[in-house]
Amino acid sequence: MASIVFFVFSKNIKKNVEKIKIKNLIQEGRITYSDLSIPANPFYSKKYKISGKPDYIVEQNKCFIPVELKTGNHSEPQKNHIFQIAAYCHLLEQHYGGFVPYGILVYNNTDQYKIPFDPMIRFELESTIKKMRYSLKTGRSIMNHSDFKRCKACSMRTYCDKKIPYF
Ligand code: SF4
Repeated sequence: MASIVFFVFSKNIKKNVEKIKIKNLIQEGRITYSDLSIPANPFYSKKYKISGKPDYIVEQNKCFIPVELKTGNHSEPQKNHIFQIAAYCHLLEQHYGGFVPYGILVYNNTDQYKIPFDPMIRFELESTIKKMRYSLKTGRSIMNHSDFKRCKACSMRTYCDKKIPYF
């Protein structure tokens, strides 16, 4: 009985994975991790003391590639989303010990972008994390944008005293 239940269950997972892959235009590779239907374990970096969970991970050419799904009408990848992908690439390198050449960003299940995890973004990621640590330590932060839409969608707006009000 248990094996039948397991068989049915694993068949359903396979079906869901295929559905997700097609829906999100990820044609290549094998999905090895998903945080979409059942919450998955987060990844942790000792180096930067950060943790996070990509929506899923796909294995392409022997590399583990993080994939993040976003909503919103964007004609190009947003800087904060690029950093999120970069952080996931770093977390997967720390966890699996290999090289992660890029991550995939998907907007509205239609537009897909390959975000290279190149030396420039690695440097920017490290320096952004350092700045964030400094802000947390000193309680001082620097406002670096004037986009009220960003504040409107921000999960920290309840606590942030620098948020831009919208009317
Ligand atoms: S609410 Fe605060 S933390 Fe969020 S985007 Fe606006 S300024 Fe930044």
